[in-house]
Amino acid sequence: MLPAYGNRAKWELLVWLAAFLIIYGLALWFDGHEALDALFRSHEEYDLDEVFTALNVAGSLGLIYSILRIKDMSKEIQRRLAAEEHVDWIACHDPLTELPNRRFLESVVSRGSSLAVGAKYAVYSIDLDGFKKINDLLGHEKGDLALKVIAQRLLGLFADDKVFRLGGDEFIVVIERNNNPELTTLGRRVVSAICKPILIEGASIELGASVGFARVPEDCESLREAIRYSDSAMYAAKKAGRNCVQGFRPEMQEELVRKLRMEADLKVAMKRNEIRPFYQPLVDLRTREIIGYEALARWERETGEFVPPSEFIPLAENAGLIVQLTDQLFRIACRDALGWPAHTILSFNLSPLQLNDRLLRLRIIKVLEEVGLPVHRLELEVTEGALIADPETARDVLNELSQEGIKIALDDFGTGFSSLSQLSNYPFDKIKIDKSFVATFEESNKQGKVVRAIISLGSGLGVKITAEGIEEEGQLRLLQDLGCDIGQGFLLGRPQPVDQTIKASQTGDPMAGTALRRI
Ligand code: C2E
Ligand code: CA
Ligand code: CA
Repeated sequence: MLPAYGNRAKWELLVWLAAFLIIYGLALWFDGHEALDALFRSHEEYDLDEVFTALNVAGSLGLIYSILRIKDMSKEIQRRLAAEEHVDWIACHDPLTELPNRRFLESVVSRGSSLAVGAKYAVYSIDLDGFKKINDLLGHEKGDLALKVIAQRLLGLFADDKVFRLGGDEFIVVIERNNNPELTTLGRRVVSAICKPILIEGASIELGASVGFARVPEDCESLREAIRYSDSAMYAAKKAGRNCVQGFRPEMQEELVRKLRMEADLKVAMKRNEIRPFYQPLVDLRTREIIGYEALARWERETGEFVPPSEFIPLAENAGLIVQLTDQLFRIACRDALGWPAHTILSFNLSPLQLNDRLLRLRIIKVLEEVGLPVHRLELEVTEGALIADPETARDVLNELSQEGIKIALDDFGTGFSSLSQLSNYPFDKIKIDKSFVATFEESNKQGKVVRAIISLGSGLGVKITAEGIEEEGQLRLLQDLGCDIGQGFLLGRPQPVDQTIKASQTGDPMAGTALRRI
């Protein structure tokens, strides 16, 4: 708007100047002043000379007045331009770190065609490791301070390049590769800069970073693609562990596309109820009776192919679908459990993320009430990993569930980091020895000792012990001899659809119908 106004003002000035020159020229040409003089003299009675003098004075003062106002106006225009520039700056920068933001990056990317022809670029995607923990444990203020320090360190490394903060703990760096830098080494420098302890109000904070990069033109043609590709590389780096640097490889994109497709398929599958629980018997090792079933999610595609839960459960967790999926499965499982004998329990797996959900108790009780399954028939399985992320909340949530009369089992025991002392802090009714121990405990002296120790620990704590993954008679007998309470495994019954569990319950034979489907 302002430049248009400026042009108009220039035009008007020219027009007025031209008008002045024409009138002035005509006046000179026709001796206008003498003619006026003669007019004043011939009409002395009208005091025309006084009127003319007054007009002259007013005109001169008016000129001075206009100049002063024009000065004011130009100051106002400057002020407005500065304010507009500031608003533009705010819109394109992150106010915390003062780094350019996603919008700025978008404008750089859309100007892609103006990239110097033949120039080489690299894009780094940087994601902090452990930042969420800092925010949760030390508060957002300290988290913000840490981000500012990280931004400064990145600016120190990439003084002549563009560092963007995309939000949260994600950064992007776009560099022009004039002198062909070694990109992995540069990525490692980013990691070490971020890893250096950050001192905030006397506390030392340590963060890590996962870094991915992609090159233009070697990996792709545009900056937009390079950002996507460096992001895929960053995910691969994150998967490889903390503080890793990865350059883009085409397989990474394929993996990402596959994941996105799976995610879309998963949403459709959930809508169509294609994911259902199967049930694997839990058997009392003394009496060989089925005491309950563990619900294990099964996704059967239209083609009849089964997608393993180890693939789609983490997918649902990452896509934010796990609460909905669990709710769906839990409802079905509770209804199915109503068809089993009244003494059998339903053992249901919780996702680690759910132990941070303070409303979990309410959600579970609501479903139990709606379906009509008594609280004492439910057992929830949680893994050690679920306790590590946020031990306090996990303990509160588990205590609430336990106080309702719901049993809690610690799943995959031995694969995580639980110390024995930790166990007594949580309201566990059962410990499930991970199948990796059961698979090897007969041959491995060390594993055998661990299994024995867990079983005696269980009886000491008054906690029941389940052994998972029993596949052979020898394992079963040995576990029975050691006094293990409950067994689960292909030998005792495979995961099976609900109709077969009902058949097995009716015959009292855990093996009934289990050979039908091998999953
Ligand atoms: P998990 O809770 O440890 O479940 C036991 C796994 O061991 C199941 O694998 C089961 O099929 C398998 N298994 C049972 N007996 C044997 C045996 O004798 N030998 C061997 N080698 N394996 C045996 P599955 O069904 O593939 O489930 C894998 C994991 O996925 C589960 O491990 C659990 O962590 C998770 N999962 C399954 N369903 C759900 C669910 O509904 N919700 C959540 N959050 N996680 C689930
Ligand atoms: Ca389990
Ligand atoms: Ca397990």
